[in-house]
Amino acid sequence: MFTFSPVGVIHSCFKEKFGIPRQPGLVPEARAILELLPPYSRAEAVRGLENFSHIWISFVFHACLGESWKPTVRPPRLGGNRRLGVFATRSTHRPNPIGLSAVELEKIIVEQGKVLLHLKGIDLLDGTPVLDIKPYLPYSDRIAEATGGFAAAAPAAPFKVQFSQSALDLCATVPQLEALIRRILSLDPRPAYYGKGDGKSIFGMKLLDYDVQWEVDGEVVLVNAVIPIGEMSIP
Ligand code: SAM
Repeated sequence: MFTFSPVGVIHSCFKEKFGIPRQPGLVPEARAILELLPPYSRAEAVRGLENFSHIWISFVFHACLGESWKPTVRPPRLGGNRRLGVFATRSTHRPNPIGLSAVELEKIIVEQGKVLLHLKGIDLLDGTPVLDIKPYLPYSDRIAEATGGFAAAAPAAPFKVQFSQSALDLCATVPQLEALIRRILSLDPRPAYYGKGDGKSIFGMKLLDYDVQWEVDGEVVLVNAVIPIGEMSIP
């Protein structure tokens, strides 16, 4: 058998699974820092990587550890009601809960003994353990004639996103927060079993240091409130 230890950990804007895009690149505003862990936190371990625009990250679905897997799963893209083989999907519930994402590498910062890779367009939960990092090689990894099975094109962004004035006022104090929320919600992050026509429903997700509260009414999302987590009242 094998034992792998993480080479790094993800510090992500996504503080819970709900709301995370289903693949990388769908929300370019979604950022993370990949911090290398000792004994790998050495500048020479990433020497030359800064010349690549994108990297592959293999990681552990750590928030699913201990959960069982099944030979077939119901991908959200198929409305959650058709089963496909687990190996025909990118499900988080798999025999070895390992994920793979190609993400944009914005810059590498080496400071105070830390090696920090700044990433964009991520689909990773805060605290995700990283098993490996590899440069994305366009000549080999970009396959023009590839076919995409049940997920041939990027998912639609079915929702128009509107903000309450108080939510807009808060977003105005944080760079890119409004754009980040807008893009995430436009993609409809709800589980597949929430079909259209379910009427008005209220949701919340933790993003950066904020609790984002929103409701769906038909094809419109209204962001009611963006509340700094430290300021939330506990009933
Ligand atoms: N791009 C990766 C892949 O194909 O292996 C991940 C795809 S998976 C469908 C994306 C989902 O994984 C996200 O929407 C989020 O809910 C979940 N996720 C991300 N990081 C996770 C983690 N560390 N543990 C458990 N689930 C995670």
